[in-house]
Amino acid sequence: MSLEGKAAIVTGSTSGIGKAIAEAFAAQGCNVMLNGFGDKAAIEAQRAGLAKTCSVKVAYHGADMTKPAEIADLVAKTQASFGSVDILVNNAGIQHVAPIENFPPEKWEAIIAINLSATFYAIHHALPVMKAAKWGRIINIASTHGLVASAQKVAYVAAKHGIVGLTKVVGMECADTGVTCNAICPGWVLTPLVQAQIEARAREQGIPVDQARRNLLAEKQPQLQFTTPEQIAGLALFLASDTASNMQGAQLVSDGGWTAQ
Ligand code: NAD
Repeated sequence: MSLEGKAAIVTGSTSGIGKAIAEAFAAQGCNVMLNGFGDKAAIEAQRAGLAKTCSVKVAYHGADMTKPAEIADLVAKTQASFGSVDILVNNAGIQHVAPIENFPPEKWEAIIAINLSATFYAIHHALPVMKAAKWGRIINIASTHGLVASAQKVAYVAAKHGIVGLTKVVGMECADTGVTCNAICPGWVLTPLVQAQIEARAREQGIPVDQARRNLLAEKQPQLQFTTPEQIAGLALFLASDTASNMQGAQLVSDGGWTAQ
């Protein structure tokens, strides 16, 4: 599949799943707007390295996904830099684990802002550009937690269920426009977001990190394997392809059997 000359925004692409998605799109000839937090020099090395390896244009915008005006600017700058916004991957996300009585309100606000509202704002601004071009792909990174719950993740589960619902609505509104909107629902993927949870569980339970990692998988995923960021990137490429042109408002699940139980 070639995405030559197309332009993609991948939010939260300085790490984990978003980084792998940005690399996969660039490898198919797609110009990419990176976004996310991190060390300035490391981000510039990532940007320049990807541009060189894949011979595409790669830019970086530091929009904070809690700030609607910065999200609007991210979309506008992408259009100005590349001439279009063909693919939007709403991926930036954070996690916090605590029972609801102890859940810090500021963590609730931040998770709802980054994991849910940012997707609304990015689509709000990018969709008119895609509709005018009569082609577009909106790919929302939800989670198994968009389909089922786990204790102590009230904000994350609420936000991801929200993403699944939002995806269905946007899918309906995009019907017959050349634009599709779909979600990917990964189970455990071993990224910094999950590594932090494994280390916290090891500390709390007084067990080695390796054992905490095995326990985490065994609790949820019968396959006892992490999905890799590259496998999620493969699903994003599939959703961007013509093969997926009749998928609308759907969820693609890769969770080692988690939600089949
Ligand atoms: P990660 O921590 O490796 O990456 C998160 C990215 O989001 C980083 O680039 C970070 O800088 C960026 N980010 C965080 N706050 C931001 C903000 N305010 N503004 C802009 N960027 C911000 O995490 P990951 O595991 O790669 O997660 C990516 C997405 O995948 C998230 O939406 C997450 O909920 C989802 N997901 C992850 C897993 C998993 O097991 N890792 C499973 C299901 C879904």
